[in-house]
Amino acid sequence: MENGAAPTAPAVIVAIDGPSGTGKSSTSKAVAAQLGLSYLDTGAQYRAITWWMVNAGIDIDDPQAIAAAAAKPHIVSGTDPEKPTIMVDGIDVAAPIRTQEVTSQVSAVSAVPEVRAQITELQRSIAASAAQGIVVEGRDIGTTVLPDADLKIFLTASPEARAARRSGELKGADVHSTRAALLKRDAADSSRKASPLAKADDAVEVDTSDLTLQQVIECVVTLVEEKRAAK
Ligand code: C5P
Repeated sequence: MENGAAPTAPAVIVAIDGPSGTGKSSTSKAVAAQLGLSYLDTGAQYRAITWWMVNAGIDIDDPQAIAAAAAKPHIVSGTDPEKPTIMVDGIDVAAPIRTQEVTSQVSAVSAVPEVRAQITELQRSIAASAAQGIVVEGRDIGTTVLPDADLKIFLTASPEARAARRSGELKGADVHSTRAALLKRDAADSSRKASPLAKADDAVEVDTSDLTLQQVIECVVTLVEEKRAAK
């Protein structure tokens, strides 16, 4: 090296999409931490705007009211995979965005095109400013937000595996009702008009039903390293 600087790996943009309960968040965080990349949880951003709408007393069943307010909340995402953060108007909302109230309303809010336009712009600017590269997880990252991502992964799993994982995370919540709520949310996310949950044509699909988290992480890390080596 001419100036003695250590060789740096080229920045890499990784999009990880898929329905709930496929291990997206755990995988994305671990891959980003292992490879020294930033991490963005886009579901947390949609949850944050939903929390703000509920708090502001906006009628979630009124898409026009949601659209009119979409630009009002100021959302800031911290992208360190070891301690990701989410703030709205300076308030730490990491805990309240995970309540059942927000979870049951988020699909309606995220289906409003004005909401998606705001959040998509924010996501693109965060990805563009990640010097080492970033792992971005969501539903429409490979198809809409970052169509030129270096690597696109689409995680799937059987409804049974997903419901079992989610009810484990929710500390023993009933598997049957968890499964029903999860399938309802996925159906809404997949059938909406504005950038629905979908696999990009050039995404690598990984079925995580019979894999451990560690196996999924290793699989994605290998795919990222191959892409980096080819850059
Ligand atoms: O990933 P998580 O379950 O936290 O996402 C919450 C919700 O945010 C999803 O059910 C979906 O309605 C919305 N979402 C979205 N587009 C993304 C990420 C999440 O519409 N890229």
